[in-house]
Amino acid sequence: MKTIGLIGGMSWESSTVYYDLINKKAQEILGGFHSCKSIMVSVDFAEIEKLQHSGEWKKLDKMMAESAIQLETAGADIVILCTNTMHLCAPAIIENISIPFLHIAEATGSEIVKKGLKKVALLGTKFTMEKDFYKQYIFNNFGVDIIIPTKEEREKIHQIIYQELVQGKIKNESRETYKQIIVNLEQRGAEGVILGCTEIPLLISDYDVNIPTFDTTTIHAEKAVEWALNQ
Ligand code: GLU
Repeated sequence: MKTIGLIGGMSWESSTVYYDLINKKAQEILGGFHSCKSIMVSVDFAEIEKLQHSGEWKKLDKMMAESAIQLETAGADIVILCTNTMHLCAPAIIENISIPFLHIAEATGSEIVKKGLKKVALLGTKFTMEKDFYKQYIFNNFGVDIIIPTKEEREKIHQIIYQELVQGKIKNESRETYKQIIVNLEQRGAEGVILGCTEIPLLISDYDVNIPTFDTTTIHAEKAVEWALNQ
């Protein structure tokens, strides 16, 4: 079994889910006493959040690259970044390590294609929904069209992520808000919805909506384990 290196802490609410998922998946596949070999570098999200909202992406590139180097130095065989948003820094990470990097949109795109969907909606932070890095990755690599919520809806989604989900607050009224936004997206032609923020699956699942959801946390974590066991 290879060792998975995780860059976590963004937020730790979802990093704990990653840790849980990789161990459960390894146990499910291998049985017995097995668990997943892993190393996590966990950052202080307060520093990250501040830099994100002041647009200091060069500094964030440097921090993410340093975390990935720490993982490689510590003996990780692959790096995964446990947040969708911070994949804006994926090129800086890839440039600075010599072990593989499993991109969250790669893992997610392959699941969308498996279901045969051609047009899906993307929910996430404003950075993920509005910047090109995620939408273009999925379109260029998998030919899937991405639609995003309206400006007002994006604002609500973003607020709920930062004011509630990354702080471990799960509210029914916010679940209802997300559900309504997903209904609106379905009416605009979305055949599925990417839960493109690693905390959104804490709030929403397939049971809440009529179209398939793509839980990026689970997809990403499980693909990493499959990689680690197949090498
Ligand atoms: N975990 C979130 C994501 O998947 C948001 C927190 C962050 O900005 O990294 O995008």
